[in-house]
Amino acid sequence: MKVAPLCTKCGSKPSVYFRPYSGERLCPGCFAASIRERVERTISRFRMFEFDSRIAVGVSGGKDSLSLLHLLVEIEEQFPKAEVIAVSIDEGVRGYRDEALRLAGEACRSLGVEWRTLSFADLFGLTMDEITGRRGELTPCSYCGVLRRRALNQAARDVEADRLATAHNLDDMAQTALLNLMRGDLRRLAGMHPAGSDLPGFVRRVKPFCEVPERESTLYAYLRGIEFQSRPCPYAETAMRTDIRRFLNRMEVKRPGIKFIIYRAALEIIPRISVGGAEPSGRCRICGEPTRGDVCRVCQLVGELSKEAEGEQPS
Ligand SMILES: [Zn+2]
Ligand SMILES: [Zn+2]
Repeated sequence: MKVAPLCTKCGSKPSVYFRPYSGERLCPGCFAASIRERVERTISRFRMFEFDSRIAVGVSGGKDSLSLLHLLVEIEEQFPKAEVIAVSIDEGVRGYRDEALRLAGEACRSLGVEWRTLSFADLFGLTMDEITGRRGELTPCSYCGVLRRRALNQAARDVEADRLATAHNLDDMAQTALLNLMRGDLRRLAGMHPAGSDLPGFVRRVKPFCEVPERESTLYAYLRGIEFQSRPCPYAETAMRTDIRRFLNRMEVKRPGIKFIIYRAALEIIPRISVGGAEPSGRCRICGEPTRGDVCRVCQLVGELSKEAEGEQPS
């Protein structure tokens, strides 16, 4: 019988994972420890939290967010004045999000973490099931992205958090960097920094998983026995991001470490981008949230969708 090579870190246990970009072979214990160390390093390098931060963690019920929640709860134990609260958004996708929310709720109960959910229905009067039924001009993911961003910020404010931690991993970061370059959207590129920034009306967003490759986040969840939603959203479109994901995964096999290279290059570029008027200076005249224009993007989208619904009704 073939025996697995020993872990290159502890030298005593059989390895379960080969890390192509570093050449390490790791046993389950050393692998989990390496992820925790990396996340701790990321947090301190970017000064993501204060010793007494009230941290809202965006928990979707997927592998990344549940792994992040477990890790932050563990790390927070060393900081008695810090707090972790889970916030989840119910976009209203029947048969998908309800299942993920059940898993998120169970994780919070077992970890003893306060859990707050906020729904699109309560906040915008619309569910994603209704929005996709109305066939607006945008793709479902575009509507969902704009609305979820607002909802997460609202949820973080509701629990009086001073940080909003989201579980974007290295793959997400590299994809977003390329996507924004390919769209020529420098404003968005500048906004993807993992340490976020303090803007009036927004809870500062931080991304402690930004240096954890997706494969490793998945393995971490499996090794820790975390139960997560693994099905993709039924509305996930095969858009540009999917092409970039496939391209990056192919490149990563040929040239291990290329996702790190793209991510680091983006971090180098971001401070050199000058985006005039990047900060929202005014307030939306409908909802009062920060915006660059007269009416914010959320109110524009919700307004259009509601108008369309009125038009559908028999007079
Ligand atoms: Zn080991
Ligand atoms: Zn508004």
